[in-house]
Amino acid sequence: GLKGQVAVVTGSTSGIGQAMAHALAGEGVNVVLNGFGDPAKIEADRAALEKSAGVRAIYHGADMTKPGEIADLVAFAQREFGRLDILLNNAGVQHVAPVEEFPIEKWDQIIAINLTSAFHATRAAVPIMKAQGRGRIVNLASAHGLVASPFKSAYVAAKHGIVGFTKAIALETARSGITVNAICPGYVKTPLVEAQIADQAKARGIPVDRVVEDVILAAQPNKSFVEYPHLAGMLLYLVSDMGASTTGAALSVDGGWTAA
Ligand code: NAD
Repeated sequence: GLKGQVAVVTGSTSGIGQAMAHALAGEGVNVVLNGFGDPAKIEADRAALEKSAGVRAIYHGADMTKPGEIADLVAFAQREFGRLDILLNNAGVQHVAPVEEFPIEKWDQIIAINLTSAFHATRAAVPIMKAQGRGRIVNLASAHGLVASPFKSAYVAAKHGIVGFTKAIALETARSGITVNAICPGYVKTPLVEAQIADQAKARGIPVDRVVEDVILAAQPNKSFVEYPHLAGMLLYLVSDMGASTTGAALSVDGGWTAA
């Protein structure tokens, strides 16, 4: 089982990252939490997770736009636990606008957080995992790692980028007991998506209440949001011993979106 293993989950103070940290802790995995937010709330959530799951949960505030801080996040896991079994590169942000109006600093920020941070974390984690002879790297990509939508140029570029990065590192680590995969979810109702609904309405010039029907769920043939347990199932498979032969894959959890 996974009991006693150690995971770093970037961007785990909200949404998918937080849910995946809870899913891992539920299997007895010690977790290093990361992300922004109100310090008192982060500490309360950390303590509650530790208590409910009976694992150690520790927090590191690395900013995913800062290479040195990302390297220190990985080193922190090694310092505190003496090992690192699972790296979940999850932190991500979104901005929705037509390319000719797309703010330059938003482009740079999205590429840094959604793509480049995974490079820095992976670069630091691979030597530790190679020395252990085992490791699991999972990149939270998106259906937008496989197909595009308008007005999300930076996000689509970063997510296609991370799918390619996943394949390259899978090949580099294939003989080291390490697997590297991307999970490509469709829409999940997280704070990131809630904020996007308002932006989409603006970019498309339609009322907010039509965005969910006409834009969000229009993409998903099953007409449902993806739920956290559906992602946890894929994650727990990938990090388990059953996932040993699955590497370099981009795995869709999208209600049929990318089949269309
Ligand atoms: P969210 O906004 O709920 O959470 C994002 C997390 O990233 C938060 O913990 C936040 O503090 C952290 N973060 C943001 N910038 C950071 C930075 N500079 N340094 C450190 N942490 C930072 O978003 P979410 O919807 O849970 O998204 C998580 C991941 O899943 C993202 O990579 C996103 O692209 C991907 N994803 C989301 C959906 C969806 O529908 N929600 C679909 C496909 C993929």
